[in-house]
Amino acid sequence: DIESGKPPSDPVKSNEGEKEKEVKASRLLYLGKPEWSVMAIGVLVLVITQLGTMSIPWFFGKLIDTIADGSLTEEEAREEMRSIVFRLLVIMVSTSFLLFLRGFIFNGAGERVVARLRIRLFKAILSQEIAFFDKNKTGELLSRLSSDTAKIQDAATSSVSMFLRNCLSLIISLMMMLITSAKLTGVMLICVPLLIAFAVTYGRFVKRIARRYTDALAAASNVANESISNIRTTRAFAAEDVELARYTELIGDPDDKEDKRCCWLPKKDHTHSLGMKKALGHGGFIGVVGGLGQVTVVGLLWYGGELVLTDEISAGTLITFMMYAVNTGAGLAVFAGLFSAFMDALGASVRTFEIIDKIPSFLLRGGEALEKVAGNISFKNVSFCYPTRGDVPVLSNFNLDIAANSTVALVGQSGGGKTTVISLLERFYDVTGGEITIDGKPLKSLDPSITRLNIGMVSQEPVLFGVSITDNICYGWSAKHHSDPSKYPLFPTKDRIEEVARMANCHDFIQTFTEGYDTLVGERGVKLSGGQKQRIAIARALLVDPSILLLDEATSALDAQSEELVQGAIDRVMEGRTVIYIAHRLSTIKGADVIVMVKDHKILDKGTHEELMGRCVEYEDLVRKQLNKDE
Ligand code: ADP
Ligand code: MG
Repeated sequence: DIESGKPPSDPVKSNEGEKEKEVKASRLLYLGKPEWSVMAIGVLVLVITQLGTMSIPWFFGKLIDTIADGSLTEEEAREEMRSIVFRLLVIMVSTSFLLFLRGFIFNGAGERVVARLRIRLFKAILSQEIAFFDKNKTGELLSRLSSDTAKIQDAATSSVSMFLRNCLSLIISLMMMLITSAKLTGVMLICVPLLIAFAVTYGRFVKRIARRYTDALAAASNVANESISNIRTTRAFAAEDVELARYTELIGDPDDKEDKRCCWLPKKDHTHSLGMKKALGHGGFIGVVGGLGQVTVVGLLWYGGELVLTDEISAGTLITFMMYAVNTGAGLAVFAGLFSAFMDALGASVRTFEIIDKIPSFLLRGGEALEKVAGNISFKNVSFCYPTRGDVPVLSNFNLDIAANSTVALVGQSGGGKTTVISLLERFYDVTGGEITIDGKPLKSLDPSITRLNIGMVSQEPVLFGVSITDNICYGWSAKHHSDPSKYPLFPTKDRIEEVARMANCHDFIQTFTEGYDTLVGERGVKLSGGQKQRIAIARALLVDPSILLLDEATSALDAQSEELVQGAIDRVMEGRTVIYIAHRLSTIKGADVIVMVKDHKILDKGTHEELMGRCVEYEDLVRKQLNKDE
């Protein structure tokens, strides 16, 4: 068994313990459903083409017999030949055109099927809860979207066409063979069961390999994705070779002298070795199928020659039969090939359907639509553990009431759970115990997307998209537009964009760019400084006019001057909103209506600066450290 012998150091995610997931063949075929009407036309074309093609051997035999026929005069024979050749030409030219039509119809259908599948998969990925993204790596998901779907592409369309074509071809060939010589047909059919048994075994092997191959490729894609998107870190540490080694380990280096078992087959488990196993299997498969075919042809010729000698059939009949026989053989080989390609797709589709079928722990939409939020927030006995971190509590018995239009500062040591509080409000995760309410309504009963439209968020490392500044500022607005195009046009007015840009202290620096608001910011905003990105992120949050604003260490990563600018922007945008911010700077903290000291997944104390100064040792400690820093 060329598949066994898995080495212990398996860099590819091992699925040993996991139950083997299967995808039903019908499910793959069903992907083509929207194309069935078009494919029906294709099938019609296919039938006509096939009938034309299948008549060719018959004409060939007739031609030979005309030439060999002693009873005809030379003139008569020539006349007959001309007529046969003309009919042959007409059939061949018209079948060529139909062939084009069929190719176009089925491949076009395949393209539409894969485009739909990709969109469906992407939608399924986007609607998963945040915990899903904690578990699944970006590069792996990208690999599913691009290469796994590509493998599935033809399974529901072109393969079906090929399958039908071959069925038809087989049936006609068999019929013609039976008509020409039943004896010879009998001889031919002896090898069929052998072929089927072999193809089925091979198909199973391919399916198993295909699934592992897609997993291995996804793992490699993930490494590539990580290195490429973090190229600055890689470069700064001069770690290109480390990254290359990581990637090579997963792909498998064909020139690695150490990693050899026998006949180029590597020892380790990676895409290269899995591919080599596939190649070995494929080679063996076509070898056996080809050999079986050749032996059959020789056997048929031998036996057929005997029949011609005993005058049971003519030489022309033998030619016709042999052509149909070769046709049948080729058809059977194509069948076997199709079967293995289908099994390949079946294996590759396991993960794709796994994601498509995965119902998120809560949906993006659904629940009470709270269009206008006043901004009263309440945490009641909230406890929470991250789904990826089992039972380690991050918050327990967390109680906090926040009145509308007030500002709350969360302070406390790093890792205390401050960011988690904000993530729970955004409903990135659901609380494991207790309840969060907004305006008295449980967060779980509200439509998550509509609620989020009323919440603005600026995080420590704001991420911009690789589009223009205008498009970045309008990002949240676009979401509002999609939610209700009648109320929100695609773009807000230019004045409004400039207004929020001014409020966020970014209008001035945008003006210094030659292309102004149309400047492209580069992937994730790399062409801007940290402070500039931060201020655009504030403008982005502002444009949607959120009732609740969440600021997570928005100024922590900035130098003093940028911090001042960003702080100025924040002070301005706090007006008339409920604001929760996480900060370290004393000047920022002091201004809050309520300061909440978070420690060891609980609230240690809360109150104004003055109140806490008198009674909370930890807070006094924090203030002292800050004062030292400021000096
Ligand atoms: P803070 O913002 O106060 O520094 P966080 O809320 O980010 O703290 O983190 C609180 C705890 O939760 C930390 O122990 C951290 O390791 C853990 N944590 C944060 N994010 C995740 C996550 N996505 N998955 C698992 N654990 C997390
Ligand atoms: Mg944090």
